[in-house]
Amino acid sequence: LPLLVGVTGGIGSGKSTVCAMLAGMGCELFEADQIAKELQLEDPQVIRGIEELFGREVYSRDGSGKLQIDRKAIASVVFADPEKLIALNRLIHPKVREAFVREVKRCAREGKRILCKEAAILFEAGADRDLDRIIVVAANDGLRLNRAVKRGLDREEARKRMQAQWPQERLIERAHYVIFNDGTLEELRLQVEQVYRSLLTVAE
Ligand code: ATP
Repeated sequence: LPLLVGVTGGIGSGKSTVCAMLAGMGCELFEADQIAKELQLEDPQVIRGIEELFGREVYSRDGSGKLQIDRKAIASVVFADPEKLIALNRLIHPKVREAFVREVKRCAREGKRILCKEAAILFEAGADRDLDRIIVVAANDGLRLNRAVKRGLDREEARKRMQAQWPQERLIERAHYVIFNDGTLEELRLQVEQVYRSLLTVAE
């Protein structure tokens, strides 16, 4: 089996950047949040479940007939109604997990040694139990907010999401590796290289 590595961190911390660097160094990548989004547009069971929870009107078709989902509408419902969030997660998480298991098997077949799973929510969902090593990416709150805004998120929205996430100290307590992304991308790369070298020795 490949070494299974979780990469997590708060909004704007730099998880995706770290994962892109790890992929460039030779790790396989499983982007859990991306897979979850795809399932909401492609998996008939998930689509039906979402329609039941949030109403059929959250789905529409674009000009070319492609299915679209109103993520903002869903976000505002689940923000106000934690029960709906739990139901939504119960619908999607098992499917993401299935996709991950398939990916683990593919890596095993193809002799890939390290599989990195990027997820904004890892501990909350208990998904860390399946992983051999956890990398937490951290940065100070101001920097994270600015990065999220630079990426197109509204500042208030970014602040709200940050407040809804686990505080970084709580993530760091549970990490095998902590990458502090408070500096330049070059400084980040040096840290990622160090972690990668360590992962290689663990994967031996
Ligand atoms: P989210 O949880 O919002 O998806 P994330 O943790 O995956 O975010 P990234 O997408 O990797 O974070 O980074 C957010 C933005 O900040 C990106 O535009 C990225 O290029 C930029 N960024 C990340 N780290 C640095 C850095 N050290 N220096 C400059 N820009 C950075």
